[in-house]
Amino acid sequence: MLQIYIIGVSIDAEGNPALRMALQTREQHIKRDKATSNICTAQALLAIMASMYAVYHGQEGIKAIAQSVHNATNSVAEALKGLGLNVKTKLYFDTIIVECDAAKVITAAEAKEINFRLVDAKHVGISLDQTIEQNDLNDIVSVFAGAAKEVTYKASTLISSSNLKRTSAYLTHPTFNSYHSESEMMRYIKRLENKDLSLVHSMISLGSCTMKLNAASELLPLTWPEFASIHPFVPVNQAQGYAELIEQLNKDLSEITGFARMSFQPNSGAQGEYAGLMVIRAYHIANGNAHRNVALIPSSAHGTNPASAAMAGMHIVVTKCDEKGNIDLVDLRAKAEQHKDNLSCLMVTYPSTHGVYEESITEITKLIHDNGGLVYMDGANMNAQVGLTSPGNIGADVCHLNLHKTFAIPHGGGGPGMGPIGVVEKLVPFLPSHKIVNTSGDKGITAVSAAPYGSALILLISYGYIKMLGGEGLKQATEMAILNANYMKEVLSGSYKILYTGKNGRCAHEMILDCNEFKMASGVEVADMAKRLMDYGFHAPTVAFPVVNTLMVEPTESESKAELDRFCEAMISIRKEIKEIEEGKFDKVNNVIKNAPHTCKLVVADNWDKPYSRQKAAYPLTWVRENKFWPSVAKVDNAYGDRNLVCSCAPIEAYMEEAVNA
Ligand SMILES: *Cc1c(COP(=O)(O)O)cnc(C)c1O
Repeated sequence: MLQIYIIGVSIDAEGNPALRMALQTREQHIKRDKATSNICTAQALLAIMASMYAVYHGQEGIKAIAQSVHNATNSVAEALKGLGLNVKTKLYFDTIIVECDAAKVITAAEAKEINFRLVDAKHVGISLDQTIEQNDLNDIVSVFAGAAKEVTYKASTLISSSNLKRTSAYLTHPTFNSYHSESEMMRYIKRLENKDLSLVHSMISLGSCTMKLNAASELLPLTWPEFASIHPFVPVNQAQGYAELIEQLNKDLSEITGFARMSFQPNSGAQGEYAGLMVIRAYHIANGNAHRNVALIPSSAHGTNPASAAMAGMHIVVTKCDEKGNIDLVDLRAKAEQHKDNLSCLMVTYPSTHGVYEESITEITKLIHDNGGLVYMDGANMNAQVGLTSPGNIGADVCHLNLHKTFAIPHGGGGPGMGPIGVVEKLVPFLPSHKIVNTSGDKGITAVSAAPYGSALILLISYGYIKMLGGEGLKQATEMAILNANYMKEVLSGSYKILYTGKNGRCAHEMILDCNEFKMASGVEVADMAKRLMDYGFHAPTVAFPVVNTLMVEPTESESKAELDRFCEAMISIRKEIKEIEEGKFDKVNNVIKNAPHTCKLVVADNWDKPYSRQKAAYPLTWVRENKFWPSVAKVDNAYGDRNLVCSCAPIEAYMEEAVNA
């Protein structure tokens, strides 16, 4: 049996068991064009919701729900057979196919506000779930009977009597058998939440991630059943509100990007990249240029770029960057000309992943066009463009937007995201199609998502963000994001070398702190600094991307000056701690940074044998006391975790004992 280990068990510096991600989305950054997965913004939040459903209901509850769904389906099936209808599905769980005049039955059903699935002219499909009540059963059957009909509820033994019945145990882990009251469940979730250092504690400066405010006013509409309870495949005339919302957003985002049209199908930036590249491919094929399959990708690109190009079947040619972090134009020109007969596209990020507005960007896009290629712009850095410039303006042909970065959809903890793509006029016919809902013309590429408009519900957030800020407000947000980054750059440049800046010494909306020299003099690595920041109550910036031994900081427009100052103060304080090691005041191995993060358990222990004070460990700056975040585990042993991949499906306690005894 194939088992995939997502979470493994390791140990921390104090010898305690520690859970750790074993299968990491980081893979694409390291393996690039060899990456086998390209899910960057995962659907982790949805997976968590599903797992919490299982935690709350447990083994018995889940089974009771399934049995009630099956019983209801059986009751309908038996009643329909009683009417002389042919129920084609003989062995079913919650779905049956019924032979009938489909058009007539569907119209009659819609009059009762019920949607059946149109299978073909002679068949409809009916699926039930646990929200179904007796009057719903009556309504469903009365559609077929042509008159009111009382359905007799019939407990089913269909599955019990077949060899499809499950006999093995499931959900045996104690977590699935402990929290079956609302109070217990609430406290369990809260305990998990308490282990998280999130935006409710402090700013998250993750460069390239654009961790901005997700305003309550933008999030509230997600709870409205008028939007939340609509199935993606309902007849279009039942989703006119959504249609209007999507069309408005299409207009606004097309204007913001300078493009002709958007597709809302991709669920993440990475999926947008894949969709955009497939659109480029379809365009070349339609023009008799199926051989154009070379994608030029600068070495500074996000790992998703080469991974997406590989998935789209392209041949990847990496181009160099100069010592200032800009695309090396000489190398790019040479490679564009060398591959001009087979050039498909360039993938370029603007402002670059180095946080700089590349001055030669229009020259770059022209060079690609002159050699028969198209330009794919990675729009993850749109927070530095909105209202000031646009991908269309710069010469791009396709671009994805990370609505979960630039347009206020929350994404800490993993999605769901939305990565719509915008395209120039000539590419519009190739935008993704969909089998059930018409989303494009007849030249459209095959759908990239199961749903026609991706995770359509969360579009409400971006809609609210754009409509409430308006054109002026959006532009002001961009300007504030750039101003905040440059303010931090000035404050931090006394303690850190800023890796790349533009001609005027400015950065765009983010900056890279060079930590290369600390390693030699003090032994401190960027990962150690990231852990030490936790003692100060901050989530780490982006570590080792896009350059090794660096931290990439992006403040966004959402943070106050006071919060920016707090973060800078913490970073400057850490620089001083590094200096103490450089000067030999502390040992290179046993010091406050290498031992970070410091747990409460360690700090209050009766024995304290560290060469620095408890105060220095836990309250390094006075304001840390007012809002102390206590890390729940000390430094995790990554190497141990890599060597001990364990399945998390048996009771966790067993592994914990193993880890402690190892
Ligand atoms: C975030 C990001 C991506 C990937 O977007 P996801 O929505 O996370 O898939 C691609 N490129 C850059 C530069 C990014 O920052």
